[in-house]
Amino acid sequence: MPKYVYDFTEGNKDLKDLLGGKGANLAEMTNLGLPVPPGFTITTEACRSFLAGGALPDGLEEEIALHLTALEKRMGRRLGQADDPLLVSVRSGAKFSMPGMMETVLNIGLNDESVRGLAKQAGGNERFAWDSYRRLIQMFGRTVQGIDGELFDGALERLKAGRSDLDLQAEDFQRLVETYKEIVRAETGEDFPADPYRQMRMAVEAVFASWNAPRAVLYRRQERIPADLGTAVNVCSMVFGNCGMDSGTGVAFTRDPGSGQQGVYGDYLQNAQGEDVVAGIRNTMPLQELEAIDRDSYDELMRIMEKLENHYRDLCDIEFTVERGKLWMLQTRVGKRTAAAAFRIAVQLVDQGLIDLDEAVTRVTGDQLAQLMFPRFDGGADRKRIARGMNASPGAAVGKAVFSSERAVELAAAGEAVILVRRETNPDDLSGMIAAQGVLTSRGGKTSHAAVVARGMGKTCVCGAEELEVSAAERRFTAPGGVVVAEGDVISIDGSSGEVFLGEVPVVASPVVEYFEGAPVGDDELVAAVHRIMSHADSARRLAVRANADNAEDAARARRFGAQGIGLCRTEHMFLGDRRQLVEDLVLADGDGERERALAALEPLQRADFAEIFRAMDGLPVTVRLLDPPLHEFLPDYTELSVKVALAGDRASGKDRRLLAAVKRLHEQNPMLGLRGVRLGLVVPGLFAMQVRAIAEAARAVPGARAEIMIPLVGAVQELECVREEAAGILAEAGVEAAVGTMIEVPRAALTAGQIAEAAEFFSFGTNDLTQMTWGFSRDDVEAAFFSRYLDLGVFGVSPFETLDRGGVGRLVRIAAEEGRRARPGLKLGICGEHGGDPDSIHFCHEAGLDYVSCSPFRVPVARLEAGRAALACAGSDTR
Ligand code: ADP
Ligand code: MG
Ligand code: MG
Repeated sequence: MPKYVYDFTEGNKDLKDLLGGKGANLAEMTNLGLPVPPGFTITTEACRSFLAGGALPDGLEEEIALHLTALEKRMGRRLGQADDPLLVSVRSGAKFSMPGMMETVLNIGLNDESVRGLAKQAGGNERFAWDSYRRLIQMFGRTVQGIDGELFDGALERLKAGRSDLDLQAEDFQRLVETYKEIVRAETGEDFPADPYRQMRMAVEAVFASWNAPRAVLYRRQERIPADLGTAVNVCSMVFGNCGMDSGTGVAFTRDPGSGQQGVYGDYLQNAQGEDVVAGIRNTMPLQELEAIDRDSYDELMRIMEKLENHYRDLCDIEFTVERGKLWMLQTRVGKRTAAAAFRIAVQLVDQGLIDLDEAVTRVTGDQLAQLMFPRFDGGADRKRIARGMNASPGAAVGKAVFSSERAVELAAAGEAVILVRRETNPDDLSGMIAAQGVLTSRGGKTSHAAVVARGMGKTCVCGAEELEVSAAERRFTAPGGVVVAEGDVISIDGSSGEVFLGEVPVVASPVVEYFEGAPVGDDELVAAVHRIMSHADSARRLAVRANADNAEDAARARRFGAQGIGLCRTEHMFLGDRRQLVEDLVLADGDGERERALAALEPLQRADFAEIFRAMDGLPVTVRLLDPPLHEFLPDYTELSVKVALAGDRASGKDRRLLAAVKRLHEQNPMLGLRGVRLGLVVPGLFAMQVRAIAEAARAVPGARAEIMIPLVGAVQELECVREEAAGILAEAGVEAAVGTMIEVPRAALTAGQIAEAAEFFSFGTNDLTQMTWGFSRDDVEAAFFSRYLDLGVFGVSPFETLDRGGVGRLVRIAAEEGRRARPGLKLGICGEHGGDPDSIHFCHEAGLDYVSCSPFRVPVARLEAGRAALACAGSDTR
C-alpha cells in the first residue's frame, strides 16, 4: 500500500507532484527551520484514488489517524478537546497553484463545548472564540456542505448593520453562531456536525471533490493544467490572527510582482483571519506599517523573506499570521509575476549571482515575451482620466464596461471587447475574466483575487480604484466629478499605471517591439533585460528560426525580428486581386495556345513578386512553395455565378457561361482532399514550369538570392520526381542553382520518407495539413462543431491545431525525419505550419532534431526564445 500521508518534516519542495505545491513548500520551510505550525499532508495519489473510486482508499483513514495522534501528542492537546482544543485547518493544494479555486476550511475542531475551552485557552477571550466558531460554520457550510455563501454573508451584514467587524462583541458572534447553525439545519436538514473527527473527514473529502468543481475545471483548461493530477490536502494546526489587535494576518512578495523592483510589498490586516486580507472586509495596511506596530515580528519577517528568496533563488510570495506577537509562516511559493517583471527579475538574479544566464533564459517564456509585444496607450493622446487604482497586471485594454461575468461572456461571444467591472471579483467571476479584455475593481490590493488571477492569465487589470462606486445591480459605476459609466459605455484601463480613462484611448507600439525593429537598447531596464536574455537564447539555440512571408514587407519585418530566412513563401496570394482575371483565363483556356498565353501573362508578375522578396531577404534562403490550393478557389462563387447567368437569361455573356461550366466541373465535395498541390502541377501543363521559371529568373536578377523550391502535398516519390525533372531542366537552362524539396504533409509522405528523400533536397513539415489528415478532420469544420466537447472529455488537452500532437502527428514527423536522414544524410528539415510559433511545438521540433522552425513574422522573437529555452532545457536534463 502506498504511503498516503507525510508529516511536514518528511517532505520537501521537490515533491510537488505528490504533496502539491503548498504541502511541498510547507515541508521545505519546516525543514529550513522556519516557524510553520506543525501538520501533515495527504497526497495527490490519495485524491486520485478517491476520485476514481468515489471513496477514501483503503488504509487512508488509519494512516490519517496515526498522524493526527502524533500531532496531538506533540501539541499536547486533542482535536476539539473540550477544555483545551487542538484546532486544524484543512487546506487544498495542487501541484500548480490555482488561486481561489480550491477550498480551505479553518478552525476545525470547534463545537459548543470546545468553543468555551478555546476562550479559556486564550485567557478568557470570548470574542475571539466565538468569532472562530462562526467562521468554521460559515466556511464548512459553504465549501463542504455546498450551502450558498450569500446566506451566511447576509446574516453577517445584517448583524453588523453598518458597523465594522471590529465593533462586534462576543455576544454578537455567539448570536451569529446560532443563526448560522439554523441556516445549516434549514439547508441540509441536519445539525452542524459537532464531532471534530467527522468535521475533519468531511473537509478532506470535500477538498478532494473540489478538484472537479466547474470553476476548477475551467481554470485548468484556461491554464492548460492537466485534468488528472488531483490535489493534496494539508492538515495544519491553527494559529490565530484574530485574537486581538496584537495579532493579524498578511500576504507579501519578496519583490514587486508587477515591476520586479526589490523592496517590501504586502498587505497586513490586524485582528483578522485567513481570507480576510484578500476578501477586502476592511482596508488592509501596507506591510511597512507592521514595523511600527510589532517591530520584532516585522524584522523576523524581513529576515525570513530574504532567506526564502536566496533559498528558492526567485521571487517568493508568502502568507503569514501573527498570533499575539509571534510570527507564523503559513505558505510560500515561487510567485506569479507579470511578463515585464519576469524578464527584469531573471536579469536581476543574474546580477546578484543567484542564477546564471542559462537559467535566466529558462525563467521566462515565449508567451511572456509575446505579452510584452502588445501595444500600449499613447501617452500623448488626448484622454480623460476618471480614476486611478493599482497597477495589478499590465497592458492596455479598451472595451465596453460590463458588470457581471454572464454579460461579459455574452458580449464577448458576440464579438465585443469588454472590460469586466466589479467591486471585487471572486472565483465565480472566472469565466467573465477570461472573456474580458481587462478587469477593473474598486476594492482589493495587488494580492486580491482579481489581481492574482489576472496576472496568472496575462490579462490587463486595475484593482482597488476606490474612487469608483460600482453598482452591479444598476449596471453602472460613478467616478468623481459626477461621471457615470453605464453598461456598454467604452472605457480604457492601463494595467501598467493603474489609470482608468473614459472612452477609447489610442494605443502605440511597445518599446520591446521597437527594440526588435532595430531601435537601440537605451536605458529602458525592461528592454535591456529582454536584450540580454534574447542574446543568450540566440547563442544557446540549435534550431534556426525562419518566417512565413509572402510579400516584401512581411519579409523585411521578419528579418528585422531576427528571421534567418523564409521557410514558407506562399504563392497563392499572388494570384488574387486583379490577377484573378488571369487565373480565369488559365482555367478557361481552350487548347495549348490559349493556356500558354495565360501562363505567359502571369509569369512576369510572379517574377517581380519573387525578386522583391529575394531583395528584402538579402542573401538569406527563401523557400517558395509552388501553387497549393485548388483552382476553383480563384473563381467566382458557384451560387452567385449561377444566379447571375440565370438572371441574364439569353443575354448572359459567353464567357460567363463558360466560367459557370468550369466552376461546376471543378467543384469538389472535399476540396482539402482534391485537386491541389502537386496534383495540380501534374494536371495543368506548364503551371509549375511557369512558377519555377519565374523563381529562377528572379533569383538570377537579384545578386546573392538563395531560392529553394518546395512542392506541396506530395504523397509518393513518383509525383515529386516528375516535377523535379522538369524543374531541374529549367534551372539548368537559367544557370541558377536552387534546392528542390517537398512538404511532408500527407501521412503517406511521412511513411515513405525514405523513398521521397531520394528525390528531395529538403523536407518541410506542413503540420496543418498533416494534423488534419492524421486525425481525419478538417480544421474549418471541426473547431466549432465539437472541439469544446473533446476538450471537456479530455480527448485532448489542447487543440492539436494549436499545439502539435506529439503522440500521433509527432510520431509521423519523427519517422519521416529519421528515415529521410537515413536515405539522405544531412537532409535539411523544417516545419512551416502554425505550430512553428507555438512554444510546446518548438520544443518538440528541437527534440526531434529539426533544423529550423518557420512562423509568422511577429512570432519570430518568441520562437527564438523558445528555441533557446528548448536547447537549455535539454542540455540540463542530459547532465542531471
Ligand atoms: P489558498 O490556497 O486559497 O491560499 P490556504 O490554504 O492558503 O488557501 O488558506 C487561506 C488562508 O487561511 C491562509 O492564507 C491563512 O491565512 C489561513 N490559514 C490556513 N491555515 C491556517 C492555519 N493553520 N492557521 C492560521 N491560518 C491559516
Ligand atoms: Mg494560501
Ligand atoms: Mg498544406
